[in-house]
Amino acid sequence: MAVLEHVTSQQAIELEDKHGAHNYHPLPVVLSKGEGVYVWDVEGKKYYDFLSAYSAVNQGHCHPKIVGAMVAQAQQLTLTSRAFYNNVLGKYEKYATELFGFDKLLPMNTGAEAVETALKLCRKWAYEVKGINENAAEIVVCENNFHGRTTTIISFSNDPVARKNFGPFTNGFVKIAYDNLEALEEVLKSNKNIAGFMAEPIQGEAGVYVPKEGYLAGAKALCKKYNVLFIADEVQTGIARTGKMVCVDHEDAKPDILILGKALSGGAYPVSAVLANNNIMNVIKPGNHGSTFGGNPVAAAVAIAALEVVKDEKLAENAEELGQLFRSEINKFIETSSIATLVRGKGLLNAVVINDSEDSDTAWNICMKLRDNGLLAKPTHGNIIRFAPPLVMTKEQLLDCVSIIIATLKEFEK
Ligand SMILES: *Cc1c(COP(=O)(O)O)cnc(C)c1O
Repeated sequence: MAVLEHVTSQQAIELEDKHGAHNYHPLPVVLSKGEGVYVWDVEGKKYYDFLSAYSAVNQGHCHPKIVGAMVAQAQQLTLTSRAFYNNVLGKYEKYATELFGFDKLLPMNTGAEAVETALKLCRKWAYEVKGINENAAEIVVCENNFHGRTTTIISFSNDPVARKNFGPFTNGFVKIAYDNLEALEEVLKSNKNIAGFMAEPIQGEAGVYVPKEGYLAGAKALCKKYNVLFIADEVQTGIARTGKMVCVDHEDAKPDILILGKALSGGAYPVSAVLANNNIMNVIKPGNHGSTFGGNPVAAAVAIAALEVVKDEKLAENAEELGQLFRSEINKFIETSSIATLVRGKGLLNAVVINDSEDSDTAWNICMKLRDNGLLAKPTHGNIIRFAPPLVMTKEQLLDCVSIIIATLKEFEK
């Protein structure tokens, strides 16, 4: 079967089912085209995308400026490895470090790799700058975190499905309650071997849990007080998703280490990055860490274009404005609804909690109905549906989507 030969949705699903590992449970819709806030299935049906590839496509599908930068660079030079310099990486590093306000950037490809990089960087800083005894460093993480899928990262996950039978696990992590500054101070005060505290500014995968106002600034202040690195995993919350360029900008909470991924490339290419100042990043010396594809010229060109789009099109401002509108419209509906109990989020990272048990299939069935009604969303945890459209959406489109969502939810009222 030639790659470009037409397949029906049914055929595409059967092919994946038979020949692909079953590590996902996709909504049954087979997409073959995307543009802006829309995607089309192979039969030509058009949908609003309300997942944005887990917030990787903040700039909208196939943004012409990003695709243009990718194609132009791909025709010049795609990969040299870091054994040699390329003429785009430095430009990207200058642009991104100035934009985010850090001395240096370490380029990787996926979010999980960037998280791994941040953990390695934090440990090395702990031994070489802070002075913790070798192999004794511990990093504090939060309950219900999601930071990716590598062996080390799942070592400090508390999702049994992500962990079961993947042991033995990596040591050196302490887990505390999320959104709880007392718990953080407790562990920082009592344990001299803490090197860092890593958290998501909003817990996306856990169900879009927004911490109390002041949590991020408070965590940063505690980290400073105890000489511990504050590490923000902004892979999902970053790049304008929550109404600011990065979510920590909502408070005075600039991290010591910033982790970016997903929309850093506008979803066109796997691009992730770790940013830090010299006093931290300079512990990394040649040979300590690397990646064959990390920092390749296509990634660098794509990332510059993707960040420029966020600025040029004022996507943070748009996310803030449309997010307020989304929550206020859904809240009006919730007042009289028996099926939806809560809407929460920041900017255009939102979730609606469905009035049924966590192990019910109501949220899944609602997402199937939303699909039939032309809007794609996915449950996060059982009874929670995440709503995260591309940030290039207009107000008219958002209101159209709110109508679809409310009409669909009404079909499930008891
Ligand atoms: C998606 C995500 C990751 C992992 O990114 P991958 O590119 O899938 O490896 C890490 N942290 C957070 C907060 C994420 O949402």
